[in-house]
Formats: sequence, structure tokens, C-alpha cells
Amino acid sequence: MPYERETASKGGHSDLVRNPDIQAFLNDCQFLKQPSDEEARTIARSYMPAPATGTLPARVVASDASPYSDPIDGKFPSTQVGYVKASLVLVNVKQFQELSPPGSRFVDPFKLAALHRNADSYSFALPGSNIRYKGAATVKDGFRRAVWDQLSDERTRFHPSGNEFTVRGTLLALESGHAGLRKCPACGLGHPQGMAYDRFEFTRGHEVQRCEDCGAEVYLTDTLRIHEQVTDFGDCTSAVTRFMNAVEHLLIATFVRMLAHHQPQVLADMAFVLDGPLAIFGQPASISFPLVSFYHSIGEELRRKGLRPPIVIGLQKDGQVMEHARSIAKFLPNGTFRVVDDEYRNSFIAPVNNSNFGTETYFGQDFIFKTEKGSVFTVGLPYPAAQKTATAEFSRLKADIQVYGENLGRAFDVVRHFELDLYENAVIPVALAHRHASISLTPGGKVLDLVTKNGLANG
Ligand SMILES: [Zn+2]
Repeated sequence: MPYERETASKGGHSDLVRNPDIQAFLNDCQFLKQPSDEEARTIARSYMPAPATGTLPARVVASDASPYSDPIDGKFPSTQVGYVKASLVLVNVKQFQELSPPGSRFVDPFKLAALHRNADSYSFALPGSNIRYKGAATVKDGFRRAVWDQLSDERTRFHPSGNEFTVRGTLLALESGHAGLRKCPACGLGHPQGMAYDRFEFTRGHEVQRCEDCGAEVYLTDTLRIHEQVTDFGDCTSAVTRFMNAVEHLLIATFVRMLAHHQPQVLADMAFVLDGPLAIFGQPASISFPLVSFYHSIGEELRRKGLRPPIVIGLQKDGQVMEHARSIAKFLPNGTFRVVDDEYRNSFIAPVNNSNFGTETYFGQDFIFKTEKGSVFTVGLPYPAAQKTATAEFSRLKADIQVYGENLGRAFDVVRHFELDLYENAVIPVALAHRHASISLTPGGKVLDLVTKNGLANG
């Protein structure tokens, strides 16, 4: 009876939870509860000493994105524009080490500010309710056009030449050069021979097509299907959030592709830290499948060259896994970790519906890691497989820590290195990216300066 001593709060919410109908409803719900001490001790026994390699990558790229949606004018609150700001921070690990004088736990704020200037940010704007971008027939068509314009322009270009290393190039590359779309996003008509066929097939040089039925322009970026959530008068917040989530992962994948092609030895000595799980949610979720294959093939390609794969980390600071991790944290010895396999997730975190968590959305595996200093993180690493499947075998493989090899220790080393007492459960590149997100926008395309100045784009 957790509500007995609660006093009436704003809005009479506590009256509601005392209502017998609501109580009966809550009794029928299963949800995450604080484990008893005994349960937590039992869970903690399955944690193992966290591996370390004692090596660090030369450079760490941290990314972070935030969505906003605002009325375009105070007088017309239902006329909305959505914004996404994505920040990338490149941290030279050697420079970072120079930030704190030997023996000190504190970082020099002036040097930190200088590091901060190595950050770059991308801003995107998307039309919401009541806005017709470039004279489009509907808000949705304008939204599609805006997504295409912004994901194919300078903004996401990671190399001076051509469109290969833009998000547009990455979308094609992830689908081996042929991206299909089942039906026209404007009129909804599919292939004349049935929905088993793609109505449109996008290839290099044919990224924009015209629907023969309705005449609408159809774009490669429509394969992300984000526009499906957009209506003429509805709130665009959820579409903007989906866009943000997909774009953050596509930007990093584009950066990785460019380096794999032009500077593989630089890539091999890099880590990428993303804010949030390695997963794509909602309509664009299907790109989580090619992303599994993509990171696997990059690793194989580098291995063939005698190089190591880059470290890719999805760092979660909230969400169900972190809530669970915090609830047992005091029972975990420092310097331990555990793979969040489907059985563990099902027993202690949330029911796994189809016996294979993340089949539709994730491209990386979560691990709970308690550092030697006592902070708890949820760390995601790309699935170590050429393909993601919904099989029991995949469920076992993704949780087999042997398959991750030294990548696990390398990832934990990055987390250990950037863990800072100043930020509770935060990693500094992520903190840097967050701070950067609050600074005024810089023009797009600046990543080229960033890359050039760091000697990464001379290939
Ligand atoms: Zn059409």
C-alpha cells in the first residue's frame, strides 16, 4: 500500500489512485518493482569481473541529438515546425588526458572549453501541422520533401566529393545499392502485380522518382517511412523524434563508412559513443537489420587489413535497463558486468514478447557495467553477427560474451576513461555533446573542417 501516507498533491492525482476501480486496474498490471535485498543479492551473483585491455582509442566521437517542436508564430500555436539538433564531438584522447593535471580529479575548465570547440552540430527543420513546405499538396508530402532535401544536402556530407558519403549514400549502401518501397507515399498505390513487388526501386542516380499514378515525387528517404506519422493537423512531435533517432545512427554510420573507405587505420583507432541504445524505433526500425550487417562487415573489412574494428557504444542513461541496474547497483561489486540476455531481461526487466528481444528494433546488445569507481552504465555493442534473425540461435549468439572478444574490454576501457566524478553516471563526451546542444547553431557542413583539421580526410 504505497499510497497510504501520500498527501493530496496537485491535480488530485492521489485521489485517483485511491479510487477502487483504479486500484483494481493496478492490481491487474505487471510492472518493474524494486527487488528485495535477497533477490538483488541473487541477481548480483551472476555478475562477472569486467574485462579490460589497458588500451585506449586515439579518438572518440560522441554524438547526441535532441528534438524540439515549436509554433512558428505565437499567434498561431497550432502551426508547428519541428527541429532536430544533432551534435558530434570529436575528442582527441591524448588532449583529454592533458586536461587534468597528474594526481588531480578535476578537469581544467579552460582546456575543456577549448575541446568543446571541436564540436559540430547539425540542425534540421521539419514542417508540422498547417505547414506546406515548398508548395507541397499536403503537410505529409512537404515533410517527405524536407527529409529528402536535408538528408541529401551538404549537411550530412562527410567527404568533399559526391554524394557517396552522405546519409543519402548510406541509405543506398545499407541496402546494397537497391532500396525498395512497396507503395507510393502520396497516393498509396502499390505495384500493379501486387504488394509482393516494390512499387519503386531506388538506385544510385535514381534517388528521386515520379509516381505514374499521382505524379508525386517519391524520394529514396521515403523508405524510412517517417512521414507515415504526419497528418495535416496533427502534432508532429513523434515524427520528429523518429527522424532524430534514425538520423543520429545514420550520421555515425556515414562517418564510419567514409573512414573505412578513406582512412581505415584511423577508424581502427576510434570509438563512437552514442547517446541511447543501439536501436531504431518506429517506422524506420527496419534499417536496424542492415545496420547489424553493416557494422559486422566493417569489422571484417578492417580485420582483413590486419586492423581492429572501431568501438561502437550505445550508452544509456535512462530507460528500463538503467532503472533495473540502479535498483540493484548497491549489491553489485565494483568492476563487474553482465550481459542482458533475453532470459535475464524477461525475468528482471520486462517481458520479452517473442523470445528474442529487439528483433525489430535493436542492432546492438546491452550490457550492465559497474565501474571500478562504482558508477553504473548500460553499454550497448553492435551484435557480433552478419545478420539479425528472430531465431533462438540468434538470441543465444548475441548474448555469448566470447563472440565479442576483446571488444568488450575495449568498450569498457573507454567508459572507464571518460567516467568523471563530476557527472554522476555520465561519460564526458556525452556530457560535452549535451552542452554543445545548448549553444547557438553553427552552419551545416562544418564536419569537413573538423575532419580536415584532424587529418582524417586526406585519403
Ligand atoms: Zn502516387
